[in-house]
Amino acid sequence: MEELLRRSEKLTTVGQLAAGVAHEIRNPLTTLRGFLQMQQRTKAVNQMHTDIMLSELDRINLIVSEFLILAKPQAVQYEVKDIRFTLGDVISLLDSEAHLHNIEFEAHFSPAPVLVHCEENQLKQVFINILKNAMEAMPNGGKITLFVEEGDEREAVIRVIDAGEGIAKERLEKLGEPFYTNKEKGTGLGLMVTQRIIEGHKGSLSIESELGVGTSVTIVLPGVTQVSGPETAADRKSLA
Ligand code: ADP
Ligand code: MG
Repeated sequence: MEELLRRSEKLTTVGQLAAGVAHEIRNPLTTLRGFLQMQQRTKAVNQMHTDIMLSELDRINLIVSEFLILAKPQAVQYEVKDIRFTLGDVISLLDSEAHLHNIEFEAHFSPAPVLVHCEENQLKQVFINILKNAMEAMPNGGKITLFVEEGDEREAVIRVIDAGEGIAKERLEKLGEPFYTNKEKGTGLGLMVTQRIIEGHKGSLSIESELGVGTSVTIVLPGVTQVSGPETAADRKSLA
């Protein structure tokens, strides 16, 4: 169970990314145009064609919305959060979908708070991406184990372990490159967005995997040494 991946050196520029998005969108657009042209000429578009057109439109929509998470200048507001609850919220969100696929989440969370300074919505996006990948890697169901712990330097350590198909060594190196996917309905943008968000939080992401055994994703985020803000005793005093 080896092969560690760290990938800040593989960042693509926004320009390359935009070109990639344009390329990925052009394919479904070409399909859509083809069917519309066919309809105009022969009025022969049938149910199967419209089904394809709808799924191509969905694909464009998915690519654009994943891309927007990166491109949109968000009003980013950092707050101190207990990451156990952030991840807990995401687990609840995905629980019914997991159930449908015979997947069970097993959480091993630190009994004490694990605080991070974060943009919580972005971190939720990260956990959704990682848990969805884990679920998609287990088409026959199984267990996903989650750990949240505090490291020696008070850093938050979050680990998600699945018993899915795993990732071959040569593919592991490519993860996080935009549009790198092995899924029919994948965009290959999830891990890249995830990586960007973690870097924005000055954290790190690593992936270990073994083909046929499973995958383990570890995120480390800097810890909070002191809770700042008006809720601390010192601040209350100075406010008084
Ligand atoms: P997508 O999920 O749209 O394919 P991602 O960027 O989320 O895009 O993931 C890229 C690729 O990484 C996936 O297509 C898959 O091949 C691989 N991958 C990511 N997480 C896992 C996992 N837990 N198990 C197996 N393969 C994974
Ligand atoms: Mg994904």
